[in-house]
Amino acid sequence: MNTSFPRLLAQAARDHGHMCPGQVIGVRLGMLGLALFGLDAPLGHSDIKKVIVYVEIDRCAADALVTATGVRLGRRSLKFVDQGMMAATFVRLTDRKAYRVSIRDEARELAARLLPDVLDSHLREIRAYQVMEAKDLFRVEEVRVHLNPEDLPGASPAKAWCGRCGETIRHGRAVERDGELLCRNCAGLGYFDRLGPVRDWTHLDPIHQDRPQEGALDRSEREREESLHVRNHS
Ligand SMILES: [Zn+2]
Ligand SMILES: [Zn+2]
Repeated sequence: MNTSFPRLLAQAARDHGHMCPGQVIGVRLGMLGLALFGLDAPLGHSDIKKVIVYVEIDRCAADALVTATGVRLGRRSLKFVDQGMMAATFVRLTDRKAYRVSIRDEARELAARLLPDVLDSHLREIRAYQVMEAKDLFRVEEVRVHLNPEDLPGASPAKAWCGRCGETIRHGRAVERDGELLCRNCAGLGYFDRLGPVRDWTHLDPIHQDRPQEGALDRSEREREESLHVRNHS
């Protein structure tokens, strides 16, 4: 057994908040996906920009996959495509070679056959998934991912501004409607309906709360702090 497996599994359970079958599946899936390219998990500093992982579900296993591989949403190496399927695709950026790894439905049944004496199914799956052969857990297929230049880490195509709400749109995500550039939210491709701006919320900000009775800074000191804050973030 790869010695980093138990270590990554323990780390995944810590990051995720509990041990569960999804942690075992996610860590194994992450390690396997990278191993298909001859890479060790988690990705080291020199390899972190070589791979993008698309994860198709937001369940326990997705957290474990992130811990095991080291890919991150904020580094653009992790993409979430909500297909509701227990699968992930690993793309090697140097040649765009891509493998999609999905979970076999029979895995649960096999776990029951492998450890019939463990009556608790949760415990049984945690144990069985650690020792089962990869071919009994996963299916691997080669795929070609529709990868656009703006999806890549480090890509920063020109910004656009939404003709309706005025917000900045990055990464080429603006859409054209009747000759006007709109953000996806205003173009009817969003995930919410706007109900209106919220008033009187600034006193709820945990950083700059306007509550003079509680350890208030005197005015000049507060102004000095605010100017520092602005400078640090500019
Ligand atoms: Zn879980
Ligand atoms: Zn807009």
